[in-house]
Amino acid sequence: MTFNPDADLSGNTTRRRGRTAAIAGGGAVGVLGIIALIAGPLLGIDLTPLLGGGTQPGDAGSNGGSVIEGCATGQDANEDVDCRMAGAQVALDAFWADNVEGYRKPQMVVVDQATSTQCGTASNAVGPFYCPPDEGVYVDPTFFSLMQQQFGASAGNLAQLYIVGHEWGHHIQNITGTMADYPNNGTGPGSNGVRMELQADCYAGAWIGRISEQTDADGDPYLVKPTEAELRDALNAAAAVGDDHIQAQSGMVNPESWTHGSSDQRQYWFANGFQNGLDVCAQAFTLSEDQLG
Ligand SMILES: [Zn+2]
Repeated sequence: MTFNPDADLSGNTTRRRGRTAAIAGGGAVGVLGIIALIAGPLLGIDLTPLLGGGTQPGDAGSNGGSVIEGCATGQDANEDVDCRMAGAQVALDAFWADNVEGYRKPQMVVVDQATSTQCGTASNAVGPFYCPPDEGVYVDPTFFSLMQQQFGASAGNLAQLYIVGHEWGHHIQNITGTMADYPNNGTGPGSNGVRMELQADCYAGAWIGRISEQTDADGDPYLVKPTEAELRDALNAAAAVGDDHIQAQSGMVNPESWTHGSSDQRQYWFANGFQNGLDVCAQAFTLSEDQLG
């Protein structure tokens, strides 16, 4: 259990089904980022058709979509992964509206197979990501099964919320100007890119630390306080998507190519936000490289 079974979660998540051919890297910031493309084969997915260029027509209209139905309560979110994503959207919007002046909601797209975005194709091979130009959070829930199979993470409900919360963190960085203030300056352990990712982990932790405080119109909390076991699972997910962990699986760890931070750093920043709240997350850009965890 993660959601309060009685919570009203009528959200507006869009489910898209589509198939497009081009992967354009431009600007997407995901929980895995470009590393997922390099690591594609170890995810057990053949990316060749996607990388071959050309365009295939969408099987149901790549820009179409429909609202996910039947996600009315926290009970639905506990039982069904699509509803869990819809529920996360409702709770995240409530949290950030309380904490960021002039907050505007991103679009949340639960990807079914593949869909085109302004940052290229979204699919479970690329992993969940946020696309700044269209302010979209794209999550294919089958990615969570890949995490279980390929990254050795159990990826339970709270771990899934951590991933979505991380992508929301990128949206916050976009609308508050952090992305503009700290533009991409290459890879490596002290790069803006790594700091951006660690801050997004911190934002996810800060949200989860206050997770039981957002309530629906009836005053029912959307989510219940996580258990120790759930928190361990979320931290495990943060470790599983660390650059060093992913690189170790493909045989070579090279910190200079890091884009997301090490397993230890990702766990540290998630826990830092969880324990200390949003205010500490700014430090991801002010601390020296050695102090990042
Ligand atoms: Zn990210």
